[in-house]
Amino acid sequence: MNTPPITFDGGPWADINLSALCANFAMIRDQAPGAETAAVVKCDAYGLGSAPITKALLEREKCQTFFVVYPEEGATLRTLLKTSSPRIFVFDGPSEKTLPLFDQFNLIPVINSIAEANLWRTRMGVKPAGVHIDTGMNRRGAPVSDVAEIAKLDLNIIMAMSHLACASEPEHPKNRMQLDAFKDVAASFPDAQLSLAASGGALMGRDYHFDLIRAGIALYGGTPFETDDERITPVVALRAPVVQLRELAPGETIGYGATFIAKRPFQIATVALGYGDGYPRAGSNRASAIINGERAPLAGRVSMDFITLDVTDLKNPPKIHDIAEFFGPALPVHETAQNCDRVPYDMFTGLGGRVDRRYV
Ligand SMILES: *Cc1c(COP(=O)(O)O)cnc(C)c1O
Repeated sequence: MNTPPITFDGGPWADINLSALCANFAMIRDQAPGAETAAVVKCDAYGLGSAPITKALLEREKCQTFFVVYPEEGATLRTLLKTSSPRIFVFDGPSEKTLPLFDQFNLIPVINSIAEANLWRTRMGVKPAGVHIDTGMNRRGAPVSDVAEIAKLDLNIIMAMSHLACASEPEHPKNRMQLDAFKDVAASFPDAQLSLAASGGALMGRDYHFDLIRAGIALYGGTPFETDDERITPVVALRAPVVQLRELAPGETIGYGATFIAKRPFQIATVALGYGDGYPRAGSNRASAIINGERAPLAGRVSMDFITLDVTDLKNPPKIHDIAEFFGPALPVHETAQNCDRVPYDMFTGLGGRVDRRYV
């Protein structure tokens, strides 16, 4: 028996532009010329597919450092890279259970506590490790008060990092405070590469660059800020075909809950994309899509498999199989995200399993 298909011919897809990905990598590298640019490919490269993304960055941009969250992600990544040379840092420190993975797949842990530091020192000796010091995010990483004790352990710390809490707002005073705190911490790890910046920090000027940039969202074409950033090229386009057309008489309604009521005649196009594919229901009656270069607002609620668009005012009335773009080169992901109470990060990672990832 043949295996059943895993893509849906009439369904939604995401065009992922690997040249744009590489252009964003090169842009970050140019913004931070004194630093190494590393790629954060956690969460299956932000939902976009870790294999083609890492392959493009490795082969075309010679990216030599990758970050993931879990050692299991690191093991998968090492296997698909097929080479032992690029460094893979794992934000999750080692545990008794995951130590063998670090060893077997040549992964570098980012140590987050004195306990993890002791475990690594006892079991792995001077194998290279990173360390994450929490300078104010109060989430992951060892508190500044633990730095002296960790530094005393004689680990081979090759990378010392911290993470900005407010990089989405470059003027936020917390950024300066964390920068100052990080400089103090850095003195305890004189031989380590220093890393404070993710995408936001990379685009905030050289004060934040240090030795290593951990670039994520900007590579994938999303802004790390609360506004768009024209230095970033769109990478992902979420698209779906029109599958049905309807004429609405005044008084008729659309979709679940009948939240859209036609006050005049309307033309409606039903498109094969829904919240089951990761398009947020919060975009109902608020966000829009682009069909043949024209803007069509969402009319009625987003359902699991379908979105209905108001195409009444389009100069070029859509036909079945015409393509609607929900974000991409024609419509910034930042704008769609805002209209859905989201950010580009969760628009990408939320893309569902039915969305065919097509690499161009
Ligand atoms: C996800 C993550 C990054 C990448 O952040 P972007 O804003 O996507 O560039 C960098 N560092 C840490 C610790 C992260 O968790």
